[in-house]
Amino acid sequence: MKLIGMLADVIRSLFIKPATTKYPYIKQDPPERYRAKLSYDSSKCTGCMQCVRDCPTNTIKIIVIDRKTKQFVMTYNIGECVYCKQCVYNCRFDALHMTNKLWESASGTKAGFKMIYGKRKNIDKYLAESAEGNSQSAVEEKA
Ligand code: SF4
Ligand code: SF4
Repeated sequence: MKLIGMLADVIRSLFIKPATTKYPYIKQDPPERYRAKLSYDSSKCTGCMQCVRDCPTNTIKIIVIDRKTKQFVMTYNIGECVYCKQCVYNCRFDALHMTNKLWESASGTKAGFKMIYGKRKNIDKYLAESAEGNSQSAVEEKA
């Protein structure tokens, strides 16, 4: 009886759609409200540093290039982020958001987790003056 039951299961499974997907070749879309990578809009930032003060892992840095003309660069290490969204809630100027993008984070180096946001010219200026230089590989331009 057991053998017949098992055989029936095997035959049935041949016609059932698999419950698993061929990850990483087939990826499911993350839920809309999933907490993944931050986005930053330097044109809305005032450099108030509230996000820097509120981040429980001290990973956010706002580099002031020129406060008068709102030229800022924001950096954070996605490997240190705990996705608490505290920075987003407390930014009164709507400059920070948490996207559901880049939820798979992997890098062979620590520098690969460093995210840099800002206008291209400001990022270049920051990298030129930064001690870490171009070892920060994950650069994103926004605004
Ligand atoms: S809290 Fe918002 S406005 Fe203030 S420094 Fe951070 S990103 Fe900029
Ligand atoms: S989500 Fe939380 S841990 Fe991540 S950068 Fe914002 S305040 Fe820091």
